[in-house]
Amino acid sequence: MGPRKGPDAQTHDLIMEPIALNGGNKRSVAYFYDSEVGNYSYGPGHPMKPHRIRMAHSLIMNYGLYKKMEIYRAKPATKQEMCQFHTDEYVDFLSRVTPDNIDAFGKEQSKFNVGDDCPVFDGLFEFCGISGGGSMEGAARLNRGKCDIALNWAGGLHHAKKSEASGFCYVNDIVLGIIELLRYHPRVLYIDIDVHHGDGVEEAFYTTDRVMTVSFHKYGEFFPGTGELRDVGVGKGKYYSVNFPLRDGIDDDSYKSVFEPTIKAVMEWYRPSAVVLQCGADSLSQDRLGCFNLSMRGHAACVDFVKSFGLPTLVLGGGGYTMRNVSRTWTYETGILVGQQVGPEIPYSDYYEYFGPDYTLDVKPSNMENLNTREYLEKIKTQVLSNLSRTKFAPSVQMQEVPRDRDDDEDEEDDNPDERRNQRMMDKTIQRDDDLSDSEDEGEGGRRDIRNHGEKKVSITAPLERGGVPSVESTPAVVEEPSAAGETMEL
Ligand SMILES: [Zn+2]
Repeated sequence: MGPRKGPDAQTHDLIMEPIALNGGNKRSVAYFYDSEVGNYSYGPGHPMKPHRIRMAHSLIMNYGLYKKMEIYRAKPATKQEMCQFHTDEYVDFLSRVTPDNIDAFGKEQSKFNVGDDCPVFDGLFEFCGISGGGSMEGAARLNRGKCDIALNWAGGLHHAKKSEASGFCYVNDIVLGIIELLRYHPRVLYIDIDVHHGDGVEEAFYTTDRVMTVSFHKYGEFFPGTGELRDVGVGKGKYYSVNFPLRDGIDDDSYKSVFEPTIKAVMEWYRPSAVVLQCGADSLSQDRLGCFNLSMRGHAACVDFVKSFGLPTLVLGGGGYTMRNVSRTWTYETGILVGQQVGPEIPYSDYYEYFGPDYTLDVKPSNMENLNTREYLEKIKTQVLSNLSRTKFAPSVQMQEVPRDRDDDEDEEDDNPDERRNQRMMDKTIQRDDDLSDSEDEGEGGRRDIRNHGEKKVSITAPLERGGVPSVESTPAVVEEPSAAGETMEL
């Protein structure tokens, strides 16, 4: 199960296909898929089933969507890459623990929160590498203008913390992808439509204005328990975390009535130059763990709306526990992203029997009650928009630390420290020519390789004006400051 050099046969054939572009609002899409992903299992009875990603891929291929996008298998994220966000000891643990040796890690099991929800399964670390590698490489291709949209359905694992597994997530591919985008983009918008709060991503960027996180989720006696309206970020990040708490049973119309105005306002105020969209499919009707009532089309309308802003966008998976509906919806959304309507008949595929009895590409809402009254939604929306108006318009980061590439680091060894500093000052711009980076790993997505960085991790959150190279201590961390209680309306 180690890293493989080339694409597998199926993927290889697909790469040979020319990209079909229709013009108009058609945007070039890079799709990341590793055929190993469906082979990992959290264990019998566990609701998280990586097989759903393989099911989605099979549908996507059988609808012919491969003709409209470039298909890649990413190089798995390395330990060093994971350590751009996670702690060394946590990543080291993930890389070493197996079902066979777990008894030797008694202390670590509770420390890193592995066990029931987040079991140690065979190939766990490789699974994390696939998820993380796809998101990082997608971000790197966006950075270099090699695609307009990058798509990684194996990503979106938004609960993973810096030093802890949580909610079926171990390595936070989203944070890794955003870190990559921040090398080139002054402001990155993160949008999360999973039924659960995007807590891991919010926490990672809670103190910075360079990432705005916007999460729509069920709030109230529901995992993970965070994501109140009044949690808005702290310090420089105050009002750059946006939470839209929702009740059970929200339907398409209600969701749209808050999603679109909120995202529109965020786009206008924040002016992101790149977007990351987590498309957790547990917000669909009839999800095994979720409690919302979105149809496939309602869920996909969010994707379409985000796409309409025409920004470089990294689209990721996430939760989703009724596999047939997850794969239907992510297929339909892939169609939207490449500009091709798919359905309604399910094409014959390896997993055809999952889609009975109707064999159609649809997820319909149920008759469950919508506990989100109009009044409630309006109230929250008003407060969210009011908080947004307290942010600085398009916060400026004209000069920004760009974390060095591996080559920069190697050069450093021989250089005069003063000259090095000057060179690095010159590199501190957001936009860099392609020739300044990524030259040696063009074929693998061109993401930063920090193998030699060791302890020289560079903060992604501290802008240059805070003074020089930020220290490791200023990397995103658990924020223990209280939320801005009292400054926002309680609902
Ligand atoms: Zn979820």
